[in-house]
Amino acid sequence: MLSVQEINEYSSEFETGTPQQIIEWAARSFSASIAMSSSFQTQSIPLLYMATRIIPGLPVLFIDTGYHFWDTFMFRERIEHEWGLNIVDLRRTPHWDLFVRQNARTLPVEDPNLCCFLHKVQPMQNALKGYKAWISGIRRDQTAVRAQAKILELQEDGLLKINPLLNWKKADVNRYIEEHDLPRHPLYEKGYRSIGCAPCTVAIGENDDERAGRWAGRGKVECGLHTNMFSKNNVAESKTEFLLDTQKIDR
Ligand code: SF4
Repeated sequence: MLSVQEINEYSSEFETGTPQQIIEWAARSFSASIAMSSSFQTQSIPLLYMATRIIPGLPVLFIDTGYHFWDTFMFRERIEHEWGLNIVDLRRTPHWDLFVRQNARTLPVEDPNLCCFLHKVQPMQNALKGYKAWISGIRRDQTAVRAQAKILELQEDGLLKINPLLNWKKADVNRYIEEHDLPRHPLYEKGYRSIGCAPCTVAIGENDDERAGRWAGRGKVECGLHTNMFSKNNVAESKTEFLLDTQKIDR
């Protein structure tokens, strides 16, 4: 069990380390109690490749929101088969099924925060209860929130979040893909530089910000996985409790 001081010291030390060194340390420190998450978009591929080479059989958490592009599923199937991945599919809890069936078309547009909470944040919260450490692929150059992240981040519930690519830039991702001849998501060449769910992702121009196509024009830049997922003051969760109460849905 690492102390907070040790975690902070390792995190500072890793600022000058390579992603591979950070993942190797994570493997030694957490052995079977570690998982990574992946959305199987192009920018996810380098971390997915290096982490599953260093830790064979590493659980890869994939959030199946039900709103993904068909191309994402096909790409995921291909990578899973070719690389022999151990993918764990995460889905919303069943108590949301009736609500989602009744609001499936409008929910991503009318209340994307709630939609992301019940389709992404809550399933990930539940899945990570089974692990001591979580490898994530965020980078500081992606958003203002991510620019403030640390390589090792102890969450409120004791889970250690590990961000091996935090200091990589977009160019590092492309360089690694080319050096290792890795595949790209099929929509990448059509202008989808960052790919999430179909209702919330659009193609962008060559010089646009990498994440400009996510929730474009809606004032939203994060789904919640890398912001307030572990906060006890999660606004979306408060709303969830209200909805569950008013709809008399069993949890
Ligand atoms: S990205 Fe859009 S469709 Fe996907 S969970 Fe969030 S709001 Fe819903």
